[in-house]
Amino acid sequence: MKQVIVIGGGAAGMMAAVSAAQNGNKVILLEQNEKLGKKVYITGKGRCNVTNDCDVEDFFKMVLRNPKFLYSAIYEFDNYQLQQFIIEHGCPLKTERGGRVFPVSDHASDIIAAFERALKELQVDIRLHTKVLSIIVENGMAKGVKTASKDIFADAVIVCTGGVSYPSTGSTGDGYKFATAAGHSIVTPSPSLVPFETKETEVKDLMGLALKNVEATITTESGKKIYRDFGEMLFTHFGVSGPLMLSASAKVNDYIQKGPLLLSINLKPALTREQLDKKVLRLFDENKNKQFKNAVGSLFPAKLTPVMINRSGILPDKMVNEITKDEREHFVDLMFHLTYTLTSLRGFNEAIVTKGGIKVKEINPSTMESKLIKGLYFAGEVLDLDAYTGGYNLQIAWSTGHLAGSHIE
Ligand SMILES: Cc1cc2nc3c(=O)[nH]c(=O)nc-3n(C[C@H](O)[C@H](O)[C@H](O)COP(=O)(O)OP(=O)(O)OC[C@H]3O[C@@H](n4cnc5c(N)ncnc54)[C@H](O)[C@@H]3O)c2cc1C
Repeated sequence: MKQVIVIGGGAAGMMAAVSAAQNGNKVILLEQNEKLGKKVYITGKGRCNVTNDCDVEDFFKMVLRNPKFLYSAIYEFDNYQLQQFIIEHGCPLKTERGGRVFPVSDHASDIIAAFERALKELQVDIRLHTKVLSIIVENGMAKGVKTASKDIFADAVIVCTGGVSYPSTGSTGDGYKFATAAGHSIVTPSPSLVPFETKETEVKDLMGLALKNVEATITTESGKKIYRDFGEMLFTHFGVSGPLMLSASAKVNDYIQKGPLLLSINLKPALTREQLDKKVLRLFDENKNKQFKNAVGSLFPAKLTPVMINRSGILPDKMVNEITKDEREHFVDLMFHLTYTLTSLRGFNEAIVTKGGIKVKEINPSTMESKLIKGLYFAGEVLDLDAYTGGYNLQIAWSTGHLAGSHIE
């Protein structure tokens, strides 16, 4: 039996504390906030998309950074074991579209409550309002931590302090400082799964508009295609967001640092050009004695109609029967290519996840132990690991946390 300190009571930390205690260790969980799981509480818009119900093999395809590093962690404690653990601790789960798993209650707080029950059963010593200032290392071994009030000694320390996204939840990057002090390298953190800013200020008029089932293509200024997918997007007062754009941000992250990108939205991806042209012709025929601005409302959501009219170059008051073939074709093209200039990503305050973090080459993937300092472990988002939305990021935290805790005995 060892004395184990877990720093950070987020997803990875709660799981690491549970598994270290299940292994017969005496565990202290240190959390600087007034409660555990402050970030978990806001996940999935307060419903907590706790994991994804996909096959394990498919899981790795959704991991953007260092999927191979996760093999042991995921195979030792996968998405099914996680679900079983949560259900056993009093929180029934349900699976929604895309394999996204949520608590039946739709309350993220019930996930945290399940962990609190497990931590209590295992007699984990939870100390809230306790900020760790540094890790005590002697002769290449972790010996404990310094807090503002005292030093606490231990045989092993697991760092689960998260990344730097949504710092208001407590993830302020302390883990990077601890790791650097211990000799570790940090892959420069950048925001991921984050909205974009656009050059066009017209987005302000579209704020709140969600476009479902559209196709987005993102290219560099030189025309290189770097992202293409279908899904749902959202206009905001500064640019574009929503699931499709958040996923895109994870893919184009490196490119946008070098310059603006071009977003092209296909509003009618289910139709061929010919089919759409026929549809518009029919619409124009039915409304030939109306003004253009009063004839096209059925094609778009209400908020988008003035933008499409403005961009079409056709005078809004023009009678439909006076619209030329060229004008109509341009209008059809516009529906396939509604373009915006993506100028930058929003910051860490709005990023679902941090890309970058502690270099995984310096961590043993079978145990999560540092290869540089004995008895020092890392788990969760503090590591250079990130994935798409869909429950994958939390599963990374649960699995790496579990692996770290279960290898201390
Ligand atoms: C808005 C939002 C929604 C999200 N939704 C989902 C979702 O639905 N599904 C999904 O899979 N992922 C989601 N994520 C991502 C997911 O929440 C994170 O990847 C995950 O929480 C990372 O877990 P972690 O334990 O590594 O870090 P965190 O959950 O950030 O926990 C770190 C903890 O360490 C504590 N800490 C930090 N420094 C110190 C210190 N010096 N001393 C003591 N304590 C310290 C912090 O206070 C914090 O409690 C979402 C993220 C955000 C921001």
